Amino acid sequence: MRIAVLTETDPAEPRVATVPETVKKFVGLGGEVVVQSGAGQKAGVPDAEYEAAGAKIASSAEEALSGADLVLKVRRPNAEELGKTPKGATVIAIMDPYGREDELKAMADAGVNAFSMELMPRITRAQVMDVLSSQANLAGYRAVVDGAAEYGRSLPMMMTAAGTVPAARIFIMGVGVAGLQAIATARRMGAVVTATDVRPATKEQVESLGAKFVAVEDEEFKSAETSGGYAKEMSAEYQKKQAELVKGHIAKQDIVITTALIPGRPAPKLVSEEMVASMKPGSVLVDLAVERGGNVAGAKAGEIVTVGNGVKIVGHTNVAGRLAATASSLYARNLYAFVETLVDKESKALAIKWDDELVKATNLTRDGQVVHPNFQPKA
Ligand code: NAD
Repeated sequence: MRIAVLTETDPAEPRVATVPETVKKFVGLGGEVVVQSGAGQKAGVPDAEYEAAGAKIASSAEEALSGADLVLKVRRPNAEELGKTPKGATVIAIMDPYGREDELKAMADAGVNAFSMELMPRITRAQVMDVLSSQANLAGYRAVVDGAAEYGRSLPMMMTAAGTVPAARIFIMGVGVAGLQAIATARRMGAVVTATDVRPATKEQVESLGAKFVAVEDEEFKSAETSGGYAKEMSAEYQKKQAELVKGHIAKQDIVITTALIPGRPAPKLVSEEMVASMKPGSVLVDLAVERGGNVAGAKAGEIVTVGNGVKIVGHTNVAGRLAATASSLYARNLYAFVETLVDKESKALAIKWDDELVKATNLTRDGQVVHPNFQPKA
């Protein structure tokens, strides 16, 4: 089983799909790992460390892909990479498949078996393969670090000879994986933390982290969770009541971090222009949902926008990638855990069980067709 690991071609992607720790594990599985030279450079892993772990270094993508049975990437392969990938190879990445019909067809036409890690079901067996969680957790942490860096004051209360400095107030909107880590991080950094979410289960989680929960807790709120544990889109009436509550609260905050998402829908608009304008000069908003349309009015993907009243709106993209080394390590472990389920231990070759729940949920293309039910071409 020859495993190719490529250098990401997108300049905005510093992560890498394999780290030396997982190279060793793949070799232990009977794999021959070929890493494209420079693949780990932006994540702080030089070629020599891959070699020391048992990988071969290829001078080009073409060389790495030659004879590959399995291709590991962070992002979906582009046309050039697909052109060099052997027919029948299995390609695993964070494919970002929604609204990408042409790219999915290109993968099918290239004859590769493509798998999308972010479609992994959130069941106990697959927790170790959950890239959404591994990356969102880091994004939540980094959002607080980024917010603190843009904020011109300190976070903890300090009693100094020159007088007392008050603790910063940080409000986290959306308490999924990223939001929970943001709460924990902001608390560790000494801020006074409040948080909100539309799922009632989050109230207890927020309080257990030592933060205060802020939300309109009406009948709609009490049933606002799907059986899969995700948020539902709330009624216009609820959103209005929530906005009123949030409006008064936001005006008193120093840093606001928004992480609210609804699967398959644009990000809910939670912070209006008026709310941004109500904040004190020097306050900071960090919008982690900016790539999905944004929670904050005026947020721009990839930019830090300063609005009229001196409030900054931070719109970094690929926030987990801002911790490229840690994000790569966790992603690589997620990938390894999945690949391990695709390999026959005796023959040390790929033996994909096509009726396995994890395979069915993540497999996009096979035998020249787009096979995933969510991405069938519209009649
Ligand atoms: P997500 O990234 O889809 O959304 C982030 C948060 O935004 C969610 O908590 C959501 O409720 C919230 N939100 C949506 N609309 C909002 C609004 N209008 N106002 C305020 N908040 C709003 O969520 P996620 O981080 O992927 O987590 C979703 C759920 O999945 C959680 O219950 C999490 O614990 C669960 N989960 C389960 C597993 C597992 O079992 N393996 C793994 C990870 C997460």
